[in-house]
Amino acid sequence: MIRRSKLETHLTDNCTKRIVNCQYCKRRGTHQLITSSSHLNECPDLPIQCSNEGCNEKILRCSLASHNEICPKAIVPCEYNTVGCNKKMKREKREKHNEEEITMHLQLATETIKSLQTSLEQKNSLIASNEVFRLNQFAKRKNENEDWYSPGFYTSPGGYKMSLHVYPNGNGIGKGTHVSSFIYFMAGEYDDTLEWPFQGVVTVELLNQLEDKNHKKSTLSYNELAPAEPKQRVKEGTKTHGWGYPEFISHGELEYNPATNCQYLKDNSLYFRVSVKATSKTKPWLMGASRIV
Ligand SMILES: [Zn+2]
Ligand SMILES: [Zn+2]
Ligand SMILES: [Zn+2]
Ligand SMILES: [Zn+2]
Repeated sequence: MIRRSKLETHLTDNCTKRIVNCQYCKRRGTHQLITSSSHLNECPDLPIQCSNEGCNEKILRCSLASHNEICPKAIVPCEYNTVGCNKKMKREKREKHNEEEITMHLQLATETIKSLQTSLEQKNSLIASNEVFRLNQFAKRKNENEDWYSPGFYTSPGGYKMSLHVYPNGNGIGKGTHVSSFIYFMAGEYDDTLEWPFQGVVTVELLNQLEDKNHKKSTLSYNELAPAEPKQRVKEGTKTHGWGYPEFISHGELEYNPATNCQYLKDNSLYFRVSVKATSKTKPWLMGASRIV
């Protein structure tokens, strides 16, 4: 029993069922609930000591994760972990680590690039003789008289290495009116095992982007009648003279043509397909050796 004079004090100060606000999150509830460990264990606005060693900041529980993203004492991986530096350090030490290890990081980056190149080349050498290339930024290249090279590709596994060379604004007699396209040979990994000069047929097609027909097609026959230079083997780092068509297609023909349902230039891009049928022979007895570099 509580005496009447004490009742008021009990209701405002002592009663465990009285309604109060949490001093942190302002949630309303009985004093018993608000001060219980079950509320304090989940109160989003309760300040909590950052758990990173050396950090004395008190952070609202709901902000702990975002604090950890910037906490100078948080343990983080080196920024160069993607190229192989496995060091971990406090965030505040990162800059110093970067300064001290600049040489090591560069070495790692260089090695990464090298191994990417190697795997890319290995991938390239598996490419068969039917390649599609996209030439983007057509308008800009045309306006600026820029030429464009496709990546080097092999005519077949273990075959010749070549590339497509395109002048969006034309070259030679096609200048200013046509797109010009040329094929040239590059030094390839299997050149020793191949017969030179190259003999065969290279077909370059500019693809109709609306349907799989009416592609603009030109064929280059590398035979006795073909000029000598473009079919010769070249040394590493050089390429042959290109061979092809200065007037491959006129600029007017690139646009949409409703009569043929043709559109070669779309979204500022052209798609070229190069197909190669080599008739010159390989030297199979030398094949294994070329892979040992
Ligand atoms: Zn009470
Ligand atoms: Zn609370
Ligand atoms: Zn902290
Ligand atoms: Zn590092």
